[in-house]
Parts: sequence; structure tokens; C-alpha cells
Amino acid sequence: MIYAANFKTNHTRYTTKNYIQDLQAKLSTKKAEDKVYIFPPLTALDTFEGDFTIGTQNAYPVKNGAFTGEIGLEQLAEFNINTILIGHSERRDILGESQQDVAKKFSFFKEQGFEIIYCIGESLEIREQGINAVMEHLLSQFEGIDTNYENFVVAYEPIWAIGTGRTASVEEITETHNALKKVVNKPLLYGGSVKGQNIEEIARIKNVEGVLVGGASLKTETFLELVLH
Ligand code: PEP
Repeated sequence: MIYAANFKTNHTRYTTKNYIQDLQAKLSTKKAEDKVYIFPPLTALDTFEGDFTIGTQNAYPVKNGAFTGEIGLEQLAEFNINTILIGHSERRDILGESQQDVAKKFSFFKEQGFEIIYCIGESLEIREQGINAVMEHLLSQFEGIDTNYENFVVAYEPIWAIGTGRTASVEEITETHNALKKVVNKPLLYGGSVKGQNIEEIARIKNVEGVLVGGASLKTETFLELVLH
């Protein structure tokens, strides 16, 4: 299983360092085949040593240049970061990234050999129309994306389940992941209010190969409840 922690706009450089020290001390009992990823805020990126991978929540598809407020390859290379989240619904919906922007970012970081955790997900309005509408929407989020890229992981995150405490049902996750697996034969993560109380049933679902976690990743205790479940 993959366990990916997305801190979003939470934690500081100082608290991230403490978090990682605490996490690392307790990761020795995790299963060897399990992989842990941490996506701290940009100001907390650094070269941390341990049994986990540090990735960036975002970057601009450029080595360096005049892109106020963004970071590029040069800033990531300083900390040997070569893992990136692309397509998160908060970047698409709040920060206005179009599918074209997302695809451009994907192509650039693919060229650089980055491991890409690529997020897709539907609104509640689409979910209520049924699985065909959901799949049509999810497939549209692969437009311009090379789904055969070797360092490609997909995170299915229904928008209505992100940060809401409302998790998709086992049936909904099963049906969606099975349908996704037929078109993208890559590791599939589920994201959306994953926590200690639901990790068992989610991790047991066939074709769920990991979880992307926001809220429950912010404290080491709650994240470790998932990693060590
Ligand atoms: C996320 O934003 O990737 C996420 C899954 O958040 P949460 O776990 O808080 O729903």
C-alpha cells in the first residue's frame, strides 16, 4: 500500500521537521512493501532522510524564470525532490487550473522523470448522475495525459468526500476503481476523508493500492493509525 500525506496549507517548516522526526521514529514497524509519501507546504521542503519520500504539492512547469509566486525545477532540485502531485481538485477548482494547464504540467514533469501522483475526481452533482457520468468525467481528466507513463500513480478523489468527513462507500470505491483499472493499469489510490475508522475497509478493496490523505495526515498519531493499521 501507498500512504500519501498531503499537508496542503498546514504546518510550518518547524512543525514539519518535528512531524517527520516523530514519524520516522515510529515507521520502523511498517510493512517493508508499504510506501509513505509526504507532501509538506513549499516552505517546508528540505532534504529529509528516512523511510519515506518527500514530494511537492505543486510546481510550475519550468526550470526557473519570471513566474511570481511559483517554484520550478531548480528549487526542487536543491532538495532532490522528484515527486509531484498534479491535478488536485483544490488546484483545479480553487486555483483555476484547467485540464490544459494540468496536462502541460504533467508533460513537463514527465520529461524530467518525476514520479507523478495524478488526482482525478468528480463533483457530487456528477456522482448523483451515476457511474457512467462519473467515468465520463474522470476520463476527461486524462485528456493530454500519457497514462502509460512509467512513474504514474492515479489518485481517485471524489470532490464531495474531500475534507467533508463523508467517505465514498465501499461499493462506490469498488465500482469506480474497477472501471478505472480497465483503462489505466497503474497503482490507484483512493482519497477523501480516509481516517483510522475507515482504513480497514478501504484498504481491503481490490484495486485500492493506497490512500491520499489530507486531514488525518496532519498529526503523526492519526497518520500512523493508517500506515500501521
Ligand atoms: C485530499 O485533499 O487529498 C484529501 C483526501 O483530503 P481529506 O483526507 O482531508 O479528505
